[in-house]
Amino acid sequence: MNAVFPGSFDPITSGHMDVLTRAAKIFDHVTLTVMHNARKQGRHLFTLEERMDILREATTHLPNVRVDTFGGLLVDYMARQEPGSVILRGLRAVSDYEYELQIAHLNRQIGDAETVFIMAATRWSFVSSSMVREIASYGGDVSEMVPRASAAALRRKHADVYAEREAEKEEQKQAQQREQPGR
Ligand code: ADP
Repeated sequence: MNAVFPGSFDPITSGHMDVLTRAAKIFDHVTLTVMHNARKQGRHLFTLEERMDILREATTHLPNVRVDTFGGLLVDYMARQEPGSVILRGLRAVSDYEYELQIAHLNRQIGDAETVFIMAATRWSFVSSSMVREIASYGGDVSEMVPRASAAALRRKHADVYAEREAEKEEQKQAQQREQPGR
């Protein structure tokens, strides 16, 4: 049995990676499909190509995972590209459940597509791509919350902010050393 893990992955987080890694042990093959919508193009931090590059880099150690993209209805993708596969989604909290329940029912109704859920590990249940983007936009440390490929891409995207923050930290350190020369 194969699975398709669809999402925006803007960028992929440790929560996504946890669901993916566990799914890769259960299913024969897992396809990570970046769903894109021309109307939402400008709303992402990373371009489609950047997101796919990050996904490829983050999953090189998972031989039964491949990366794909599709712009359109997920059920059309399932029927055309992945007949017989199930849709894989992650569930973090009750807040995810209502939305996911609706989408899963609709996908079964309009495309006879089955959805399988994997519960997020509690450790990552508070992590979302949007929070990670927010923290990184201020130069905060997100290295615990995302795979290395995403952290490096976020640093490149916000290189000026990270450089400024590091310079500030260095200045603070030097000021402290001037005040307490023994430390
Ligand atoms: P979408 O825009 O379709 O919600 P996302 O990239 O945000 O795409 O998420 C894709 C899937 O991964 C969704 O099922 C979402 O619930 C799940 N997911 C997101 N963050 C986490 C996390 N921290 N742990 C587990 N699953 C997650």
